[in-house]
Amino acid sequence: MNDAPHSWRPERFMVIAGHPDDADFGPAGTAARWIDEGSTGWLVCCTSGDAGGEDPDADPLELAALREREQRAAAEIIGYAGVSFLHMPDGALANDLALREHLVREIRTFRPDAVLATDPTLIFHNGGGVNHTDHREAGMAAVDAVYPAARNPMAFPWLARSGLAAHRVRRLYLFWSNEPNVRIDIAATLDRKIAALAAHASQIREPEKLAERIRAWAKEEGEPAGLEAAEALRLVVIDDDEDEGPDREGRAATEAAVREGITAEAAPAD
Ligand SMILES: [Zn+2]
Repeated sequence: MNDAPHSWRPERFMVIAGHPDDADFGPAGTAARWIDEGSTGWLVCCTSGDAGGEDPDADPLELAALREREQRAAAEIIGYAGVSFLHMPDGALANDLALREHLVREIRTFRPDAVLATDPTLIFHNGGGVNHTDHREAGMAAVDAVYPAARNPMAFPWLARSGLAAHRVRRLYLFWSNEPNVRIDIAATLDRKIAALAAHASQIREPEKLAERIRAWAKEEGEPAGLEAAEALRLVVIDDDEDEGPDREGRAATEAAVREGITAEAAPAD
């Protein structure tokens, strides 16, 4: 873990989530910050959360419609340019070719530099608890759509033939990871993250307690970097374009350190 706050910012980013509210429990503070600084963000929800209740007699389609309205309201608070719902079944999401094609279509349409998704390798949280199967499947589907399918014109070739050209996503930022390696300062946007979460009224029984918990998590995730509030993410760099990004100076320092014989591990990784 590099302790310095992470400063790279994508011009365009896409958050891919299993359920409505995942993006807001996840990297909403980072998304809001990047949008404030000039990035354009897009949210994709694989399911509409139609099993996110406790009444077996409830109409899942009505619940899905309600949860889509809640997610659209939350997305407006964060500042996303738009939201796509793929309407896959909640609780039965599968990283199959149908989902991958949907995601490739979304990626090639919006053309993000970075994709944010749930860490698909997480089954058990370090702090206890099991990661929902939809979070694992959505995360793996996002990774597989980003690499190699979105950048390969011969993957789902009918997409490229009908005008959706291959697109290279340069970075993955994985949230809810046991192995975070970057921390993003969200002190300025933490209140918006909490407001976005409150928009998911059907899912939240005690909004004040939740706000407290979110503040405590942000504080905990910020501490190693000396930040008041942060989101800790697992960054995977796929294409490192040397001519782009605000971390150019950091990279130059790394190269200088390596030249002087200092090990690469001691120099800032990103
Ligand atoms: Zn979820």
